[in-house]
Amino acid sequence: MKSTEESESLFASHEKIHPRFVLGFFSRLKILSGVVLLGLYYAMPWVQWDGQQAILFDLPARQFHIFSLTFWPQDLIYLAFLLIVAAMTLFFFTSLAGRLWCGFACPQTIWTDAYLWMERLVEGNRAKQIKLDNAPMSFRKFRIKATKHSLWIVFALLTGFTFVGYFTPIQDLSQKIVNFQLGEWETFWLFFYSFAIYGMAGWMREQVCMYMCPYARFQSAMFDKNTMIIAYDEKRGEERGTRKRSDKNYKDKGLGDCIDCTLCVQVCPTGIDIRDGLQYQCISCSACIDACNQIMGKVGYPQGLIRYTTENRMNGKITKILRPRIFVYASILVLILVGIGYGIATRSLVEVDVIRDRNSLFSETYEGLIENVYRLRVMNLDKQAHIYDVNVTGIEGLTLLKEDDIAIEAGSVITLSVRLTADPEHLPKRSTTVLFHLVAQDDSELTITEEARFLGPFIRH
Ligand code: SF4
Ligand code: SF4
Repeated sequence: MKSTEESESLFASHEKIHPRFVLGFFSRLKILSGVVLLGLYYAMPWVQWDGQQAILFDLPARQFHIFSLTFWPQDLIYLAFLLIVAAMTLFFFTSLAGRLWCGFACPQTIWTDAYLWMERLVEGNRAKQIKLDNAPMSFRKFRIKATKHSLWIVFALLTGFTFVGYFTPIQDLSQKIVNFQLGEWETFWLFFYSFAIYGMAGWMREQVCMYMCPYARFQSAMFDKNTMIIAYDEKRGEERGTRKRSDKNYKDKGLGDCIDCTLCVQVCPTGIDIRDGLQYQCISCSACIDACNQIMGKVGYPQGLIRYTTENRMNGKITKILRPRIFVYASILVLILVGIGYGIATRSLVEVDVIRDRNSLFSETYEGLIENVYRLRVMNLDKQAHIYDVNVTGIEGLTLLKEDDIAIEAGSVITLSVRLTADPEHLPKRSTTVLFHLVAQDDSELTITEEARFLGPFIRH
């Protein structure tokens, strides 16, 4: 065991990574993906559909509007299936294309890129950022840092405001902010989400991917030798080393194509060296591919020293893209999506619960008829009010008595009592199935049928 003086700390303080910006084929794709996804995020709450916000998760009203569809708490099953779809999609794309999601579509990556862009805008390129960070505090340094953080905070507040705008109509929310009338929960979530974005995209960046995201840890279970990865071609690149650009005989000196410029390390947002092999910290952002391709172009070597490939292809074997696990994930995905689509297309916008009166099984009227009492709980899940007609079948001569019309406002529930009477002569057994049919007066397609039991005395016919 080492003495106290010799002991090493297991804690290593975090060193800020200053990724160098590179513009190439993949970084352009990434910028495009970021602009589209962020654009959708910030613009969607402002889109109106059928006179209301197109996407609105109205928690107080317990209604979730997605364009022309409205979901209710009883539709939460679709949310569960959507989560399964999200997981399956991730499995499918990871098996096929590795961490494509992480590099091009993950919100953490996209927002971090936006924050890095603002940092470059204010502080300058990588060299200037490093110089500024290493310089002692001065008025100039304070001014630049304050400008950057102000920009970050404004962007974070806009992001938090937009987030709350998915839960509170965004136009009302804007009015409330202008008039200082924000509610407690709206204020809490606005600042909480703003703070989360500011912290995760501005300060923590790659540490979220490396230490907080569970996906980085379990993705290896979905990887195999045919999964697409970003890899450095070691056979071609090694021995790495500097050389004169005019030196065409470098291979005779035992050198490979890697000129050891370290540009692939400088552009890496997680600060790793792809030449050390596949690492869980790699988020497949492709920056090192663009950087290396630029260098290869400059020195006149073929591109692709770092590239998208598979372990099999790197080892000279055939890559099988279509493998059993791909078919399994794709089949499950298609099945669930078809199921969700069918469920949504055929779901009824009226629901009814028929609850038997628990006080008595049945009673006998003065006319000698058998009477059963029920409570109907009717939910109108449509966006318009409706009046519903109800009739009951299942027993010959069955009569329905109700006191009120079933008139229900949009998105409302009413409960009412109804009585059924039947001639005991027409009761084949003590318990008979009856069917309650509800249909909207103004829309014959808005209908539902619910089963119940009609109880009577035991009669020998
Ligand atoms: S960018 Fe390419 S050439 Fe430069 S160090 Fe990385 S792998 Fe080698
Ligand atoms: S190793 Fe390359 S692909 Fe992976 S995170 Fe770093 S720059 Fe991006």
